[in-house]
Amino acid sequence: MLSNPATARKGNLVSAAGMGIAILGTLFLYQPVGAPFHNYGWIVGAMVIGTVIGSLAALKVKMTEMPEMVSLFNGMGGLCAALISMVEFGRIAQDNTAMHLLSILAGMVIGGVSFAGSMIAYGKLSGKIKDHTFSGQHIFNLVILFVILVLGALIIHGDTGAPVLIFCGILALSLCYGVLFVLPIGGADMPVVISLLNSFTGVATACAGFLYNNQVMLTGGILVGSAGAILTILMCKAMNRSIKNVLIGSFGGAKVAAGSTATDDQGTYREISLIDSAMVMKYAHKVMIVPGYGLAVAQAQHACHELEKSLRSSGVDVKYAIHPVAGRMPGHMNVLLAEADVSYDDLLELEAANEEFSSTDVVLILGANDVVNPAAENDPSSPIYGMPVLQVWKAKSVIINKRSMRPGYAGIENQLFFLPNSSMLFGDAKDVLQKLITEIKSM
Ligand code: NDP
Repeated sequence: MLSNPATARKGNLVSAAGMGIAILGTLFLYQPVGAPFHNYGWIVGAMVIGTVIGSLAALKVKMTEMPEMVSLFNGMGGLCAALISMVEFGRIAQDNTAMHLLSILAGMVIGGVSFAGSMIAYGKLSGKIKDHTFSGQHIFNLVILFVILVLGALIIHGDTGAPVLIFCGILALSLCYGVLFVLPIGGADMPVVISLLNSFTGVATACAGFLYNNQVMLTGGILVGSAGAILTILMCKAMNRSIKNVLIGSFGGAKVAAGSTATDDQGTYREISLIDSAMVMKYAHKVMIVPGYGLAVAQAQHACHELEKSLRSSGVDVKYAIHPVAGRMPGHMNVLLAEADVSYDDLLELEAANEEFSSTDVVLILGANDVVNPAAENDPSSPIYGMPVLQVWKAKSVIINKRSMRPGYAGIENQLFFLPNSSMLFGDAKDVLQKLITEIKSM
């Protein structure tokens, strides 16, 4: 049910109900032999507090803040796994087998990295934290990883007189690593890191499942871990990045400083009026709509579908070009358009869309910026160089709707806006779309 927007809501409810049954089953069916649960007050109290906070947050969050929230919740999963490891280390440290110690340590390190990294990702997505780099950062990150491995080996071999101190040291280093590996990641590369952190949380949970010999927890963790890993590989492919560089936090940000922020000598751009935009689209054979983050901000998905329908009723062939990292979370545009009942058959993926642009009369860009930036193909100094983008400039004419000349998430200028076949249609996407629909209907 989760793989189809039409049934995803139901799928989520089924998952939540399943989770509820799992919690009740754990509490009432699995009483540990010799040590039955006695602390129901604490357990129920924590569940009530968690449920209230989670439900209120989910009800209050704006659709545009969803990616931040997903990051925050992912971090909580990592923190849970790390806490389980900490509790278990203290509780059964004396008679732990090497295998137990390994899963305790792996759960804590991966969970800790996922928690700290997700908190930084949350800060970055909400614009509260900027990219930070320092020279020798990659080496420093590798050294931290190496020290974690050495300390972990010491604990497992039992060659240490102060295992608790070393355990705390590993925890601190894992949190440090989580922060340092996400901090330098440049704007446009965040999607890869987010799916990687998601995968980490799954693996950390699987470690806890292994520790408790709990197959359900193990399976759930492996499911999230492998789904996240597949998504990370797909995202790396979409961004043309290497997985090795993602893991040591060595891509993106460093180059942002080198040629990224908007400069004053960008050239001149052309503006187009609402009436002219409506006219060129109404009398076109083929129109391609490119949705981006701005469409989500404006909550203009329904107006967008309306425009599509009125163009269709005038005989225009209308399609959507979907970039895999458009918006702020994987699949953001698919979810957004599905909400407005746009047919999945009308959505073209990057490669398919790129083949169609040269035969397209008008491309209408709605709040997209980085995903249509030609610098990714022709400017080696650009931080997004190498990332596959939608080649909208191949169309006969390109209309770009946004509110100003400000850059997108990656903070870089976009030469597309200054090309001879491009024109700017300034304004909030929803407002502009509603006016375009009125104009088209009145023609
Ligand atoms: P961008 O962030 O590049 O650009 C969005 C544009 O929308 C802005 O330039 C903004 O311009 C415009 N905009 C904002 N509000 C409105 C509005 N109300 N009406 C009209 N326009 C508006 O978005 P893209 O979708 O092109 O690219 C996504 C970026 O986010 C990529 O860099 C990607 O790597 C990154 N990212 C993606 C994630 C994912 O998983 N998909 C996760 C994290 C980051 P103006 O202010 O002038 O209106």
